[in-house]
Amino acid sequence: MKTDFHAAMDVLITGGALVLESGTVQGNLAIRNGKIAAILAEGVELPAQRRIDARHLLVFPGVVDPHVHFKEPGPGRIREDFLSGTRQAAAGGVTTTVEMPLSQPLVTSRASFMHKYEVAKSQVVTDYALWGLLPADDLDRIEELIDCGCVAFKAFLSTDPDAPKLTGYKLLEAMKEVRRHNRFIGFHAENADIIDSTAAAMAAAGLSGGLAHLQSRPDIAEMEAISRIALFAEETGCDVHICHLSSGRARDIIRQARGRGVSMTVETLPSYLVLDDADLDRWGVFAKCNPPIRSRENQEVLWDMVLKGEINMLGSDHCPYTDDDRLKHKGDIWAVPPGLPGIELMLPLMLDAGLNQRGIKPEKLAHLMSSAPARRFGLGTRKGAVRVGMDADLVLADPNHCWVYEGARSVGKQKSSLTPWEGKALKGQVIETMVRGHTVFREGEVCADPGTGELIRPEFNCIPSEDAGNERGILR
Ligand SMILES: [Zn+2]
Repeated sequence: MKTDFHAAMDVLITGGALVLESGTVQGNLAIRNGKIAAILAEGVELPAQRRIDARHLLVFPGVVDPHVHFKEPGPGRIREDFLSGTRQAAAGGVTTTVEMPLSQPLVTSRASFMHKYEVAKSQVVTDYALWGLLPADDLDRIEELIDCGCVAFKAFLSTDPDAPKLTGYKLLEAMKEVRRHNRFIGFHAENADIIDSTAAAMAAAGLSGGLAHLQSRPDIAEMEAISRIALFAEETGCDVHICHLSSGRARDIIRQARGRGVSMTVETLPSYLVLDDADLDRWGVFAKCNPPIRSRENQEVLWDMVLKGEINMLGSDHCPYTDDDRLKHKGDIWAVPPGLPGIELMLPLMLDAGLNQRGIKPEKLAHLMSSAPARRFGLGTRKGAVRVGMDADLVLADPNHCWVYEGARSVGKQKSSLTPWEGKALKGQVIETMVRGHTVFREGEVCADPGTGELIRPEFNCIPSEDAGNERGILR
């Protein structure tokens, strides 16, 4: 990409630590027409309409969250919607959300995809892409959904109130069809029978509370499901993705599958890396999610998998329920719907627990939270890296700012304010978020109009390789 230096830039960000794929360097960054126009050495200036002083700040690529539930269209809107969800995304430094198909109607056809698009397009303040639900009952819909721009297909091995459960024959046939189209399936990987039967027995015995929820979803349920997915993937050649890995005991199964040539990416959530069973015990119904939050020892295995690249990316699985949704069940862990809000805190949690506490380099965090999901979901031609020519989706973050999270002051407070994050002390804060060069969040305020976000359709065959080498552009 050629840059005409005689024309003024729209924005010049000066003095920041630019988180490039090859490493973090001090420098200046210029934006024009919504794209990163130039990456400049420290002190090198270009005329610009607006200057941003980023001294002491990290300039990250905008986070690409591969896993959010905005529940719109449908009766769930009260719990979350595209406007509220993307406002929280902006506050959390998330510039592209990949939204799950569990709205009403389920996204299983062109009509339902386009219906969701029509609802979303006037609401969103950040960019977004859409999952489809694997249409195992009508395989012709796979091509139809790909044609609409769906990035991947979600399938459930567990019992979910909103989505059909797939176990054997239909899943195999659908995997063959997805393989034929060179796309991939993302799985909720838990064995339904083990969980449903255990939970029923525990409820009948009068057990309740957060730890009962954990015991009802043992590691073996996740291990068996991942093992089955790996076997089916090997048999069909279908490319697969494990959503929200919670059990470190599945590590060997994943390693062995990859060793046999199975193409399998794995996502985990900051919730699993930060919360443990003591939080689940303390917060009970407010910390219920599926798969469950597990032990501290398990958490260490997940961190090790993150550090070694065995876990490819992070997602939020943002799925809030109102405070009333939680309270009306009077502490009955079996009756409460599963899901935690998370998009607003995803990056701050990782700045705190990853960068500050574990010394993870900023560029590794950027890989896990931006470039890896962007590439995996076909968005990598425009999203996921601080590189000349990419969309100017950027987060200015202060890695040293200490603050305390309060739900009642959060951007997401009108949806839910009672969460296990309440009172969490964090070192690391989002200062400003930009989508295509426009500021959508700055110093605590969302400042973008509804409808300014764009649907991003995937491009799978023209994504620059990881070491494409032109990221520094005209660095000089
Ligand atoms: Zn989910």
